[in-house]
Amino acid sequence: MVFSEIRGQKKAVKLLGRALDNEYMAHAYLFTGPDGVGKVMTARAMAAAVFCRKKNGAAPCGTCPACLKFTSGNHPDFLHIVPQGSTIKIDQIRKLKKALSFPSLESDHRVVLLEDVHTMRREAANSLLKILEEPPPGNILLLTADESEPLLPTIISRCQVVPFFPLPLTLTAEIISRQDPSLDVEEAALLASLTGGCPGMAKPFDAHEILMVRREIIETLLLKQVDPAGEVETALILASKTAEVKEGLEPLLNLLRHFFKEAMLTLCIPVPRKSGSHELDLEVSRARERWNLDELSDKVSAIDYAEKALSRNCSRGLVCEVLFLHLLNSKTQPQY
Ligand SMILES: [Zn+2]
Repeated sequence: MVFSEIRGQKKAVKLLGRALDNEYMAHAYLFTGPDGVGKVMTARAMAAAVFCRKKNGAAPCGTCPACLKFTSGNHPDFLHIVPQGSTIKIDQIRKLKKALSFPSLESDHRVVLLEDVHTMRREAANSLLKILEEPPPGNILLLTADESEPLLPTIISRCQVVPFFPLPLTLTAEIISRQDPSLDVEEAALLASLTGGCPGMAKPFDAHEILMVRREIIETLLLKQVDPAGEVETALILASKTAEVKEGLEPLLNLLRHFFKEAMLTLCIPVPRKSGSHELDLEVSRARERWNLDELSDKVSAIDYAEKALSRNCSRGLVCEVLFLHLLNSKTQPQY
C-alpha cells in the first residue's frame, strides 16, 4: 500500500506526504475518523515510506530489502498493536514501553501502529500517555481512533491529529466493487450508502449473504401487517436467519440501523434524498409511509439495545429474538 493508492483522503495524504518528503515527522500522529475510511491503510503506507531505503519522496520503491520485509509482514521495526478482545489492555502498553526502550534494529526509526486507541480504559490510556510525554527517540507512533469514545485530551494534545472523513458515495461504491467484483452495480451502490461512505466496513463480511438477509428482513417489516398470532413466529424466523449470519451480525445490525435512520431523515427533511441506490430510495420512501418518527426512533433504539447486549456476551439467538419481537411490535420494550 502506498499513498498514491489511498482514495478520498487528500488532506491527510498531503500532510503526511509533506512530512515524509521533508523528513520531518512528529513523534506521534493520531488518525481520527470512522471505521473503514483508510486510517490503517494510510498508517501502513507511512510505515512503508519510513522504512524504504530508496524511496522517491513519499513513495517506497517496493523492491529494496526493507520494502520486501515490510510487505511480507516481517519488518522487525514495525510493531502493530490491536485491541485484545474489545480493548487495548494495560499489559500491551507495558510491553510496548519495554520494546521502545531498545533501539530499532534495521531502520533509523521504529514505527508503531496502535489501532483503536479509543477502546483503552483509563489505566492503559494513562500508561500510553507516559510514553507520549517522554517518547524515546527513533520511534514514530501512529494511533488510530474513531469518535465513538472520547479520548483523554492529554493524549490528543501530545499527537499531531490527522482527521479522516467518509468518502463520497460514488467513490465508495467504486472501491467496494473493486473489493468484491462479484457485486453488481446496484449492490455496490447500496453498500456504499449503507456503510455511509466507509468502504472498509464492507470488507470483512460476505456482502451477498448480508444483503440477502437484510432485504428479507426489511421486506417483511415493510410489507406484512403481521397479525398478533403470527408475529412471534415471524420474529423467530427472522431472528434465526439473523443469528446464523456469523461474522456479519454486527454489520447487518449497522445496515438495519442505517435504513431506519435514513427513513427518519427523510421525514425530517422534506427534500427527497437520493442515496445513489435505487433499492434503498424505494425502501426508504415506503418506510416513511409505514412508520412515524417516534416508531422509527424506537426501532433504532431496539438495535442499539441489541448491540449492547451482544457486547455483554448475551446469547445471539436470544438477542435476535427480542430484537425482532420489538421491531415487529414497537409496543414491547426490549429486555435481556
Ligand atoms: Zn524500498
